Amino acid sequence: MSKQQVIILGSTGSIGESALSVLSELADSFDVVGLAGGTQWQKLAQQARYWNPKYVALADTSHQQSLKAQLPDGCQLIDGIDTLTRLVESVDCDCVISAVVGAAGLPATLRAVELGRKVALANKEPLVIAGELLMSTAERTGAKILPIDSEHSAVFQALQAGLQEDVERIVLTASGGPFRDATESELENATVKDALNHPTWSMGPKITIDSATMMNKALEIIEARWLFGFESDQIDVVIHPESILHSMVEFCDGSVIAQMGTPDMRTPIQYALTYPRRFPCPASRLSLTDLGQLTFLEPDTQRFPSLRLGHRVATEGGSTGAVFNAANEVCNDLFRKGSIGFCDIVRLTEEVLGAHDRVDHPKLDELIDADGWARREVESMLATSPIKKVN
Ligand code: NDP
Ligand code: MG
Repeated sequence: MSKQQVIILGSTGSIGESALSVLSELADSFDVVGLAGGTQWQKLAQQARYWNPKYVALADTSHQQSLKAQLPDGCQLIDGIDTLTRLVESVDCDCVISAVVGAAGLPATLRAVELGRKVALANKEPLVIAGELLMSTAERTGAKILPIDSEHSAVFQALQAGLQEDVERIVLTASGGPFRDATESELENATVKDALNHPTWSMGPKITIDSATMMNKALEIIEARWLFGFESDQIDVVIHPESILHSMVEFCDGSVIAQMGTPDMRTPIQYALTYPRRFPCPASRLSLTDLGQLTFLEPDTQRFPSLRLGHRVATEGGSTGAVFNAANEVCNDLFRKGSIGFCDIVRLTEEVLGAHDRVDHPKLDELIDADGWARREVESMLATSPIKKVN
């Protein structure tokens, strides 16, 4: 059987590197034909020399020529602008791993869906921004969108135990992040260093901060709403500090089907690549007896109002996902730069959401406008009432 050709968007990131680790064990079945990164051109050059793909793409135009000089023979650089989208268009591949962080991944992910590719999706923000558009495009082109996000991979696996119409609700688990037990005043004074110290998962900086604010779970509620087509009130969240049970589906007969495993992204990445087959995976094995017990707690929406916002956006739909995501991206970045406090991330995002006039069934240009508007709105809110820094 011929090998499946794979492109990785975001190969220089945390998910990108885990995907390459999975693919190195599956070399008989998969061929890496395209790699793409944002700014880390030296890491991308190294990956290209090891994997020898047909094409590489780098979003940062200022380092494209330095990268080109270090590529192996036969590996072509896609230079200029929109390089990730043009990479997706250049190869008639079987699978695109979408692992860029944030809204930046939307154009290339949408293009892959338009071309009817199988998309292994880690980059949740495109679904949050343009879930309706992506899913309707996938339906038209026959593209398969397979989740890499561990909770959604768990739900996807559990759904195979029954029929969609017999599902009562899905329950997404959340570790609770580094501030699970923090008081409101500790949250107000949380530092970037503390927020980056995730207890169970090792991830890129943006999603690590999203986990601390629980904006990540809000994004995942919206992601689940579009990916699986459930109503917002069918999507619950439970705090599970050990990150062993990755999410579950409750059917109408009361049966709950869950997926468990050690917290290692290589498991859901591999499943998205090999579905419906399963193969041995480098992730360590789960021993429930070593763990002894698993804990489940009700989330506290007073200390973590982000969860409420996630449900609100999942209910309202339209352009609210684009606004919510963009405001959160800007605030997440401002917090990491020390310009705003930890709780300002959710506070400002909620304010921006409140000031937005929703557009229903938005087209791509309307979503891009909503995204741009929300980013400017955060800046203008901060300009009119500057925030006192806490760290
Ligand atoms: P990282 O920050 O580690 O990696 C992000 C990747 O995106 C890098 O390759 C980066 O390139 C690239 N990138 C950033 N900006 C651009 C841009 N403007 N154009 C092109 N490429 C760009 O993030 P993660 O790997 O942690 O997360 C990736 C996605 O997966 C996110 O959406 C996240 O929410 C999701 N996810 C991550 C999980 C994890 O365990 N890490 C778990 C579940 C979901 P470079 O570094 O070269 O600048
Ligand atoms: Mg997740």
